[in-house]
Amino acid sequence: MGGDRPSLYFPAMKRSGLFFIFVVVVVGILSWRAAAWSKQRGEVRMGEGGTELRDLTDSGELSVPSAQKPVVKDDSDWLKTLKPDRYKVLRKGETERPFSGELLVENRDGWYVCHACGLPLFKSDSKFDSHCGWPSFDHPAAYANVRTKVDTAMGMERTEILCARCGSHLGHVFDDGPTATGLRYCVNSLSLDFKPMPSKSKVATDTAVFAAGCFWGVEKLFYETPGVLSTTVGYTGGHVPSPSYKLVCSGSTGHAEAVQVVFDPARVSYHTLAKLFFLSHDPTTRNRQGPDHGEQYRSAVFFHSPEQEKEAKAVRDSLVVAKTWSDPVVTEFVKELDFWKAEEYHQKWFLTHPVYCHRPAKL
Ligand SMILES: [Zn+2]
Repeated sequence: MGGDRPSLYFPAMKRSGLFFIFVVVVVGILSWRAAAWSKQRGEVRMGEGGTELRDLTDSGELSVPSAQKPVVKDDSDWLKTLKPDRYKVLRKGETERPFSGELLVENRDGWYVCHACGLPLFKSDSKFDSHCGWPSFDHPAAYANVRTKVDTAMGMERTEILCARCGSHLGHVFDDGPTATGLRYCVNSLSLDFKPMPSKSKVATDTAVFAAGCFWGVEKLFYETPGVLSTTVGYTGGHVPSPSYKLVCSGSTGHAEAVQVVFDPARVSYHTLAKLFFLSHDPTTRNRQGPDHGEQYRSAVFFHSPEQEKEAKAVRDSLVVAKTWSDPVVTEFVKELDFWKAEEYHQKWFLTHPVYCHRPAKL
């Protein structure tokens, strides 16, 4: 009897052990696939993890992320404030007839905001003609502003998109977008209001160009700075006209990855931008930022006037005096040269990808 036991016991252990391993592997594969599918659908987003939303400022820019109270109303309140057709879409998740929406043909520069609460959801530069019958966008104005939810209605699994502040239904997001993000945010026109960009004719703008390593992170930093009106990533300081990213990466063109910043000097000074530039990267490492090696990652200020050169050098000197770094600063100061806009997929990269290479500096 005693001798029989092991032969009965161990095979049983083996079977349950194998079954356990099988379950672990299956669960692992399923969660990995779920994460991958979720990522494809844009559910893994930057800015996730709180109610830090971005509103619109008076000058028509996105504000810095801030904690915002959700807009909560009961159904009778929504019925009072929304017209019946908008109520059905925003609060009941219905879909407007294709090709019926007024905003389908809207092509001015501006913001598409939630009709129910005014939160900016999409910007005109992300709009494209998908021929599907509803306004379509390839990324939200700010990822945190658009919430996603699995929708199993209609006998299929889709990803519903909702306003992150008031929870109103917007439409769905699909992973068949034709642009670099691969996403198509298909939105009911009735869920949105359009706000044209305020006229900038009265604003006297200035530009600044900085190179501080990988331009994805540098652009994010300046884009989020109040008073900055627009940012463009590109290549400058080299000797080949209109270079491609591939060519720049080969190291044969002499270009640096740089960001061109258009700003309103009445709201943010060049001094502040230069300080942000110095404090957000390591200006003491020649041709290198963290793991990125090569001339394209050099630290450089491309000034367009003697005043900018003087100001940027004064910022450097004051930070050196304050012993901000233990090693000598190797940042180059170069008279502005041709700035070649980088490929579209590099522009606003941080909106669709996590970018950790640069940190906001405390000014
Ligand atoms: Zn809303």
